[in-house]
This record gives sequence, C-alpha cells and structure tokens, in this order.
Amino acid sequence: MGEINIYHLYPAHLNLYGDRGNMLALCRRAEWRGIEVNIVPVNPGDRIAFSSCDLLFMGGGQDSDQKLVADDLKRRSGEMRKAVEHNMVIFAVCGSYQLLGRYYTTARGEKIGGLEIMDLYTDAGKGRLIGNAAINCAIWDPPRTLVGFENHGGRTYLGPNLDPLGTVLHGYGNNGVDKTEGAVYKNVIGTYLHGSLLPKNPWLADHLLRKALAYRHQDHGLRELDDFTEEQAHQAALQLAASKRVNKKPSL
Ligand code: GLN
Repeated sequence: MGEINIYHLYPAHLNLYGDRGNMLALCRRAEWRGIEVNIVPVNPGDRIAFSSCDLLFMGGGQDSDQKLVADDLKRRSGEMRKAVEHNMVIFAVCGSYQLLGRYYTTARGEKIGGLEIMDLYTDAGKGRLIGNAAINCAIWDPPRTLVGFENHGGRTYLGPNLDPLGTVLHGYGNNGVDKTEGAVYKNVIGTYLHGSLLPKNPWLADHLLRKALAYRHQDHGLRELDDFTEEQAHQAALQLAASKRVNKKPSL
C-alpha cells in the first residue's frame, strides 16, 4: 500500500478543455492499485508547504486567468524551484506550461513573469494554433505516441539544453515551426496537449505516478491494468489528429 499527495494548483482558474480529467485519471489509476491519494486543492493566498507535495498538477488557462494567478505563483517560485531540484513531480498543461518558463507575452503585449523552472519563453504569435495533435515521445524506449488537443496563441521556444517532451507527428506543438512539443526537466513535464490528456494516454499517467512514488521512496511496482478502452480512445484520437480535416493553417 503506497500513498501520494497530489496538489492541484488553482483548480478554479486553470482548467480548460477537460484538464481536470487528468486529476481523475491519476487518482483512479492509483486507487486501482491500492495506492492512497490525498488531493490538496491550492487557491491563491492559501498557505501550503510544497515539501509534502509529491505530484503537482496545473491545468491550462486563458491569458486573463494566467494574469490572475501570476503574482501568487511568483511568491511560491522559490519553494517550487527548490522542490523541483529535489525531484518533485510537476505536470503542467498549456497556460501553466508557459508559466514554468521565463515569461509569457500575451496577445495584448503584456509580459507575465514565469517561475523560471524551465529554460523556455513564450510570445503570443499571429493567430491561434488549434487542433488535434499527436507527438512521438521518447521518455519510453521504444518511444510511444501521445495524443491531445491544442489551442494556444503562445509560441514557446526551448533553450538549447532543455529536452522537448516529443516530436510533432500531427498538429503544431511548441511554436508550429520546429516540430518540438512540450518540455521535460528533471521530473517536470510541460505540454500544450489538453484532452483530457491522461485518460487516453494512460502510460503518461503511470509514468507520473511512478515518479511520484519514487520521489517518496516508495517502491511500489505499478501492476498492469486492463487498458483496452484507453487504447481504443488513444487510437481514435490518433486517427482524428492524422485526418486531413484539421490543422492546415493557424486560425486568425
Ligand atoms: N493563454 C495561453 C495561450 O493562448 C494558453 C491557453 C491555454 O491554456 N489553452 O497561448
């Protein structure tokens, strides 16, 4: 029997396109293995200690939502950076992924300072990058696909030593140009893929759970689950992303 603490940062502000479903997938897949999950919602102003957090989840948000949480996030940045260096797990989607970097310049030209956990920056571009997407992801050997939905105005550029999460097969990814998608630094994963992402990419959910358990020195070999339905959902989303109906040009 293991136990993990999952902190959900700003659930009222950062939650787009079913991002909350990622929390449900993490909880169910842990509970099905007899692992106890404690969920801690974190709202702006709450006093919390990241030292008891094993896995931190942050969803996507519109520019206005990102601005609302930016100050609170900034106040927590030192503590978060320290936890990341000790291998705390973070999973961040879209608007939150952007905030892990140095800054995000919004569509209105406002510059929102980031947490500086990852060496990346984001500038709003002309038109939004919208559609179903699929990437090839090499955090597994052999690599596996991840499928999701993206909708962002920001174009993210990674520093030279930061690894992308994957290579774009269908869709736009970080900036629509260099074929990279997302980023990985230590146990931190950032991605533009909404979905919800984890229910139809269960191997990523298990990857995050394994890392969170290892972070707490709990040697809990995750037993295999019957992922027939999840596999079907994955394949359907992959076909959708590959279909010619989507992802032609940025929509203005
Ligand atoms: N506001 C950001 C952008 O448009 C992020 C949007 C999102 O989280 N989907 O780039």
